[in-house]
Amino acid sequence: MSKFLSPDYEKLVPYTPGIQLNYEVIKLNTNESPFPPSPKVKEAVDGNLIDRLRLYSDPEVMQLRQAIGEHFSLTAENVFVGNGSDDVLAFSIMGFCGRGGKMCCPDISYGFYPVYADIFGAELEEIPLEADFSIDADKFCNKGKTVVIANPNAPTGLALSQKDIEKIIASNPGNIVIIDEAYMDFCKSSCNALVSKYPNLIVCRTFSKSHSLAGMRVGYALAQKEIIDDLNKLKYSFNPYNMNSVAIAAASAAIKDDEYYGKNTDEIIRIREKTKIDLAEIGFSGTDSKSNFLFVTHNKIPAETLYNELFRKKILVRYFSKERINNYLRITIGSENQMEALINALKEIIKELS
Ligand code: PMP
Repeated sequence: MSKFLSPDYEKLVPYTPGIQLNYEVIKLNTNESPFPPSPKVKEAVDGNLIDRLRLYSDPEVMQLRQAIGEHFSLTAENVFVGNGSDDVLAFSIMGFCGRGGKMCCPDISYGFYPVYADIFGAELEEIPLEADFSIDADKFCNKGKTVVIANPNAPTGLALSQKDIEKIIASNPGNIVIIDEAYMDFCKSSCNALVSKYPNLIVCRTFSKSHSLAGMRVGYALAQKEIIDDLNKLKYSFNPYNMNSVAIAAASAAIKDDEYYGKNTDEIIRIREKTKIDLAEIGFSGTDSKSNFLFVTHNKIPAETLYNELFRKKILVRYFSKERINNYLRITIGSENQMEALINALKEIIKELS
């Protein structure tokens, strides 16, 4: 740390992203899609875009907001876009509970929520998950503070029902409820239809997972116009051109190709369910994940050992040293071949170490 860093940030503990290596590995650690983006994305990005790069991108991001709005039977006025949903979450937490505001989230969830609370000065209450890692919706009702919930949750993959989500939103009318649906396409129970009913709801989504555009960095919020106006006010006070032209073109093409992404998503769900069975056969148990990853523990070998052994075999999964989940691995659902390689590697490791 330099002597120049503001004392406000001295104690800040940054988020630790999953590692990205520059050599060939089977990469099952950051919940990316094993499938390429839609051919329509390639067309949109290849075209004449290069000539336009000398110009600033559209600060209103109208093309993409309109396309997303149409996709959800909403309008561009109901859509805010950001440089990844991390950007959208950051603006939301900054705007609706920063500087002494109050916020709550599950104690085991996306690791960025506490970091945002910290950097924006929100007072955070972390509400413990139940023993089976589920969220008790009642514990998030009538909170009198901003509520942030990932649905399905990460890294557990467990989802709350639409009924429970609505109960949480309805019981906190004086506060923003952020439902982070980064993985919702693999669960198919989105609460986006509640946007027109509840002025306190922000649904946060991303192109990084189901839409194979993690490297493009595009996320968005669906909410009522007043909320979107607030988010834009913050954006225009911070970085009006937060979306680059390539990302806008790519995501606008992607959101229109339901057929392609629908097929990919169904395939990942199919592989997920098969992998659950394959892992159970070699001694793993875990949550009933509704996401594009599994959260599993082995009946004999510690998760950290498995993580290291898989790493040696050039298979990357995610391990968290946090208490309560430090004997679990989070494994992204890859292609059928990748999952086969994973199961074979695990069989070898288990045989060697048993
Ligand atoms: N929310 C959750 C629950 C996540 O797991 C992630 C991915 N790390 C994000 C949001 C952020 O995704 P992105 O910034 O790539 O849109």
